[in-house]
Amino acid sequence: MLSCEEIWCQGYSEPNAGSDLAALQTRAVKDGEHYVVNGQKVWTSLAHVADWMMLLARTDPDAPKHKGITYFLVDMHSPGITVKPLKQLTGDAEFNEVYFDNVRVHESQILGGLNNGWAVGMTTLMYERLALGFGLQVRLRIALDGLVELARHTTKNGAPVTRDPVMRQKLAQLWIDTEVFKYTGARAITKLLKGELPGPEASTGKMMWVEGHQRLQELAMEIQGPYSQIMKGSPWAVAEGLWQHTFLRSRANSIEGGTTEIQKNIIAERILGLPKD
Ligand SMILES: Cc1cc2nc3c(=O)[nH]c(=O)nc-3n(C[C@H](O)[C@H](O)[C@H](O)COP(=O)(O)OP(=O)(O)OC[C@H]3O[C@@H](n4cnc5c(N)ncnc54)[C@H](O)[C@@H]3O)c2cc1C
Repeated sequence: MLSCEEIWCQGYSEPNAGSDLAALQTRAVKDGEHYVVNGQKVWTSLAHVADWMMLLARTDPDAPKHKGITYFLVDMHSPGITVKPLKQLTGDAEFNEVYFDNVRVHESQILGGLNNGWAVGMTTLMYERLALGFGLQVRLRIALDGLVELARHTTKNGAPVTRDPVMRQKLAQLWIDTEVFKYTGARAITKLLKGELPGPEASTGKMMWVEGHQRLQELAMEIQGPYSQIMKGSPWAVAEGLWQHTFLRSRANSIEGGTTEIQKNIIAERILGLPKD
């Protein structure tokens, strides 16, 4: 996975199980040494190129909904798996619908024990949010450097945008937030290096990144003014429409990896100890 020789996808969300992931309906029924999987996943990033899936499926339908879920490692080339790409706002098809029709998975492919999938799945998500928070602060900084360049080379009322006092404030605030984000992320990584597990605080990093990145992309549109409406392919497009693409893609940030509302619930309940939603 680390060398990217194998691409993995995450089969969690279903048409009726997103934020309320424990409502998932995909079934895995034991048959000898195998489990037979039937059901549907949706929004599965990279499923169309993935070799493996981390699949959450229900193995005990009579257990309370957070129990009775198992985490399987599924070979995406198995017979019975159909992948249908879904087109996003950007025009790219990054994610997919995935259908399981009597897919056989050997019991040795269970990770973390039968009916213990909720704990394994949540741990995976906490790592994902932490990685989103920490890894993406580097991308945020690269995007910010690009934005400053854009501002330097764009003129407003006859002067570079970087001379505009309001724009300067907005750029400076983004720089401050990126630095705060860097050190908060470093604190979380230090925790991992000490052998501790990421906790619910991974949600704060994810939320900070989402808010900062969406604000950065909105500022890129503001700096371009009317040119922000011109997409890739037009000779008038700024930077060949790159910012238009990243602006549209950034709308998904507050949904992917768990919505902002859900992160706020996690922070309220599990960090601040407030009453349950
Ligand atoms: C680009 C992208 C990539 C993705 N990749 C994957 C992937 O690889 N694998 C995967 O399994 N999933 C993936 N997802 C799916 C993603 O995890 C879900 O879209 C997300 O968890 C929200 O679920 P939902 O879409 O069903 O929305 P819903 O859960 O139906 O939520 C709809 C709205 O209601 C709000 N809401 C729901 N419950 C509450 C509550 N209790 N309190 C307050 N507000 C609430 C939500 O915040 C949201 O605004 C991806 C999504 C996107 C956009």
